[in-house]
Amino acid sequence: MGERFVNANQSERFVETNFGRNNYDFLINAAGLDSLEIAHKMGAATQLRMVPIKGRYAISKEPADIKMLVYPVPVEGAYVLGVHSTLTPEGYVKIGPTVFPAFGKENYDLMQGVSIKSISKAISNYAHLVTSKKDRGLIWHFIRNEFSKSLSI
Ligand SMILES: Cc1cc2nc3c(=O)[nH]c(=O)nc-3n(C[C@H](O)[C@H](O)[C@H](O)COP(=O)(O)OP(=O)(O)OC[C@H]3O[C@@H](n4cnc5c(N)ncnc54)[C@H](O)[C@@H]3O)c2cc1C
Repeated sequence: MGERFVNANQSERFVETNFGRNNYDFLINAAGLDSLEIAHKMGAATQLRMVPIKGRYAISKEPADIKMLVYPVPVEGAYVLGVHSTLTPEGYVKIGPTVFPAFGKENYDLMQGVSIKSISKAISNYAHLVTSKKDRGLIWHFIRNEFSKSLSI
């Protein structure tokens, strides 16, 4: 508990944390939202960028008589499931998550979890996505179909 990644050296096969240095044969990077930053520190996955998005949920006021989950038709190449329904153990229906641009990995509320660095990085990564040939169609799909859902929840 409390052990944080500091650095790693791929050629000498060691990883350094705030607890010290360990040699490794195989290193599994499972640091969730931090995993890309860690990969970049090791010179791996340098072609990947993080595009943070946040989602909101709506929940029914009363338990509903619905027995199954409802998902939208998948969009080819999409990075997210789209707004779908989930049932809570008490039978309430949750609808979400919506897709809305965020400006930091943990930007859950207006300016929470953001810094000038995270905002400029997010803007640059969004600009890259919007201008990339591969993703442009998908991005416009989300702007047309998903942003309105974000504003209505
Ligand atoms: C509100 C919400 C609802 C979700 N709902 C669903 C759902 O219904 N269904 C679904 O399938 N998924 C859902 N997800 C997504 C799901 O939670 C994640 O996809 C999943 O937890 C990712 O697992 P992970 O092991 O990659 O990362 P994590 O669970 O984030 O684990 C990463 C671990 O690495 C540690 N760590 C981070 N940085 C460092 C560091 N520098 N050094 C050392 N350790 C570090 C963290 O402390 C953490 O323990 C939801 C997520 C959220 C936020």
